[in-house]
Amino acid sequence: MAKHHQILIIGGGTGGIMTASQMLKKDPKIDIGLIEPSDKHYYQPAWTLVAADTYNFKKTERSMASVMPKKVNWIKEYADKFDPENNKVTTKEGNEFTYDYLVVSPGLRMAPELVEGLTETMDKGNVCSIYTDPLHAKKVLKNFKGGTALFTQGATPIKCGGAPQKIMYLADDLFKRTGVRDKTDIVFATPGNVIFGVKEIANTLMQVLYRKDINVRYAHQLVEIDVEKQIAWFVLTKAIIKGGCIIWSEENQNLDFNIQQNYIDVKAIEDGDRFGIYYDMMHLAPPQAAPKFIEESPLVTPEGWLSVDHNTLQHTKYANIFGIGDVCQLPTAKTGAAIRKQVPMVIESIFRLMKENTISDKRYHGYSSCPLVTGYGKMALAEFDYENNFTPDPKLKSQMFIKDSSKEHWRLWMLKKYALPYLYWNKMMKGKQV
Ligand SMILES: Cc1cc2nc3c(=O)[nH]c(=O)nc-3n(C[C@H](O)[C@H](O)[C@H](O)COP(=O)(O)OP(=O)(O)OC[C@H]3O[C@@H](n4cnc5c(N)ncnc54)[C@H](O)[C@@H]3O)c2cc1C
Repeated sequence: MAKHHQILIIGGGTGGIMTASQMLKKDPKIDIGLIEPSDKHYYQPAWTLVAADTYNFKKTERSMASVMPKKVNWIKEYADKFDPENNKVTTKEGNEFTYDYLVVSPGLRMAPELVEGLTETMDKGNVCSIYTDPLHAKKVLKNFKGGTALFTQGATPIKCGGAPQKIMYLADDLFKRTGVRDKTDIVFATPGNVIFGVKEIANTLMQVLYRKDINVRYAHQLVEIDVEKQIAWFVLTKAIIKGGCIIWSEENQNLDFNIQQNYIDVKAIEDGDRFGIYYDMMHLAPPQAAPKFIEESPLVTPEGWLSVDHNTLQHTKYANIFGIGDVCQLPTAKTGAAIRKQVPMVIESIFRLMKENTISDKRYHGYSSCPLVTGYGKMALAEFDYENNFTPDPKLKSQMFIKDSSKEHWRLWMLKKYALPYLYWNKMMKGKQV
């Protein structure tokens, strides 16, 4: 027989735990079931720092039991099938759970199969990623002996779209420490035609790229990795569809050779419509997609992500289902910072639906933020909405004395390295709003 919960949450990551703990703060008697198979919970934003050898990986990992609110009924299973007409979720283990309200927050999955050769290459040898194995990435960066260091940006939506360039800026500093920067050419290959969607931030980042002598190559969509010959193959196309992390600006830009800035002549090869760059080390953001059980569910958009209203996060067909976090199809960056803004509104909507059958008056306007670390001790903070307007939090001025967070500042680095992890574990995971 199916077990019933007033609230059923899928996923005990940033979104799921924040939702459960904030709900219990509002109503300690509420009955919450949370489906989460993993023993571990990770603070993923610090993985960039781990790979740059400035943060201890162990501090990013805690047991799931330690973050799971005590009053939650933790169902340690994999959610598998949805039956939204009957308010039912079945787990891989074959158990059935019914609900009054469902919050779907299982994050996303890596999809290396979308790039030929990547499944076999991922996290092996000199191919690395902070998304999948930050400790391997650290080893690759620290042991690098010089040559072409190639960094790529994913063509699908990815979490924290700025992370692939943050690790590159840190790598540049690391290579100076290890004495190989003089023997290294750094190339950033991205499918879009701007370095960042928010103008104020893009201006800062372009200065960083020139200062660090990094070659940016636009309109590069990674399609294959030839691990034997150490070639990353790209299709060069300006016809890539905008969306996810691909940003095409109408205004851009004085690009060298049409698609480059700060050109550096690294070894390359052409083959028909494909262009290959020889690498001596490569960092990538693998393609990413919604978890398979979401893609195969009746709850998705044609692109396979959870279909929710952009401003209310209510499912587009089922009024008692809400989405939170990376799994949702939303035209903004997939970050924990976005979740911090999404959760209180979704909770208010569910409580109001329970009492008066109407959702919250609050609306989500796509707030997300990306702490753009530009080197050891340096960071700019991108905060923005669906329209890519720069929307800095006024607290930065009043509490951190930062006049303009679109510019690099050491105090922002302190925020990233010390304050945000502290707030995450001690406030956000405990249901306190920050
Ligand atoms: C390298 C890197 C750098 C980042 N930097 C930043 C940053 O600087 N700032 C920022 O705000 N964000 C950053 N992020 C993004 C941030 O970590 C994510 O956006 C956030 O964790 C998403 O939360 P979520 O709850 O949607 O998914 P997750 O936190 O990934 O949690 C998903 C949970 O669902 C569970 N799950 C999966 N499948 C099932 C299933 N079938 N049934 C039940 N449960 C399931 C998983 O086990 C997991 O616990 C970064 C991420 C990475 C990888």
